[in-house]
Amino acid sequence: MIVLGIDTSCDDTSIAVYNGKENRMLSNIVSSQYQFHQEFGGVVPEIAARKHAENIDIVFNEALKVAGIEVSDIELVAVTRTPGLLPALLVGVTFGKGIAYWREIPLKGVHHIEAHIFSPFIGKVPEFPFLSLVVSGGHTLIVLVEGLGKYKLIGKTLDDAVGEAYDKVAKMLGLGYPGGPVIDKIYKNYDGDFIDLPKPRAPQFNFSFSGLKTAVRRLIEKGYPVEQVAASFQKTAIEYLTGKLKKAIKELKVKKVAIAGGVSANSLLRESLKIMQVEKNLNLFLPEMEFTSDNGAMVAYVGYRKFLIEGEDSLSMNAIARSSL
Ligand code: ATP
Ligand code: FE
Repeated sequence: MIVLGIDTSCDDTSIAVYNGKENRMLSNIVSSQYQFHQEFGGVVPEIAARKHAENIDIVFNEALKVAGIEVSDIELVAVTRTPGLLPALLVGVTFGKGIAYWREIPLKGVHHIEAHIFSPFIGKVPEFPFLSLVVSGGHTLIVLVEGLGKYKLIGKTLDDAVGEAYDKVAKMLGLGYPGGPVIDKIYKNYDGDFIDLPKPRAPQFNFSFSGLKTAVRRLIEKGYPVEQVAASFQKTAIEYLTGKLKKAIKELKVKKVAIAGGVSANSLLRESLKIMQVEKNLNLFLPEMEFTSDNGAMVAYVGYRKFLIEGEDSLSMNAIARSSL
C-alpha cells in the first residue's frame, strides 16, 4: 500500500511517500519556514498557515517525484490532525482530504505526538513495551508505550517544554530561532568552565523548565558571556532530562528506551543516552536525524499502521488544536 504522509502542524511543510507493505520510505520532503518566523523569535500561526498554503503543492509534487510515483499510485492519505497550530493544521488536513476525495482513497488522521513516538522505528518494526522520552517544541513527556495506541503517561512538564525553553533562552541570548540547533552547536565548540545552574524541582518523573529560564536570565543580566550561558544551559537541561529518564527506567524496570521530537537531535542527549545504554545494558532506539523534527514520514508510518487496525476516518474529520495522546 502506497501511503502519503502529510504534516503541517507547526512551521514545516512536510510530505512523505511510504510503501507500507515493504516498510520503505520512498521520499520525505520538508520545507522549513523558520526564516519567516525568525524576526518574531517564534512561530506566528497566521504566517505559518499562509506559507503552508503557498508551499504544499510544491512539496507534494517533489515528494511524488523523488518517490518515483504518480498521483494515481497513492492508496492512503495520512495527515496530522492534532495537536498543533490550528490554522497550520487546517492546511494539511484540507489538502489531504482533497486528495482522498479526488482519488477516492481512504483518509487517516494522525496524532502528531504519536507520530513522533514511532519515529525511531521508521523502516523497522517497533518492539513493545518501550519507554519513550518525547522532547519537542511543545511537549516533554515520558511515556510507557505498550503497543500502538496503548500509552501510559509516566511524567510530563508542568510548565514549558524543553524545546520551548531552548527557543526562549536563545531568544534572550539574541541567537535567533529555532534555538536548539544554535545552542547545541555552541555547546559542541565550547571548552570553558560551566556555570552551575539549579536543576528545577518537579515531583516524580515530571519536569519543570521555567525556573531554569529565569536562572539563565539572571546570568545574562550579570553579564556572563553568551557562549558560557548557552553551554551551561544545555548541560543542565540535558542532565535533567537524562536524570529523570534514568530514574523512570529503574523504577519501571524497562530495558527498551526510545527518544523522539526535535530535541532528540541534540548531540549531548544522544551521547548521554549511548553511555546510559552501555551502563544499563539497554536497547536504545534513536530516530534518524531527518526524522527528529517534524516530518511527513512519521505520519505515514503511524497512519498506515493505525489504518490497518482501525480503518479509515470520515471526510468530515477535522483539525483539533489541542489534545492529549
Ligand atoms: P510538538 O511536536 O510538541 O507539537 P514542534 O512540532 O514544534 O512541537 P519539533 O519540530 O518536534 O516541535 O521540535 C522543534 C524543537 O526542537 C524546537 O524547539 C527546536 O529548538 C528543538 N531542537 C531542534 N534541534 C535541536 C537540538 N539539536 N538541540 C536541542 N533542541 C533542538
Ligand atoms: Fe513536532
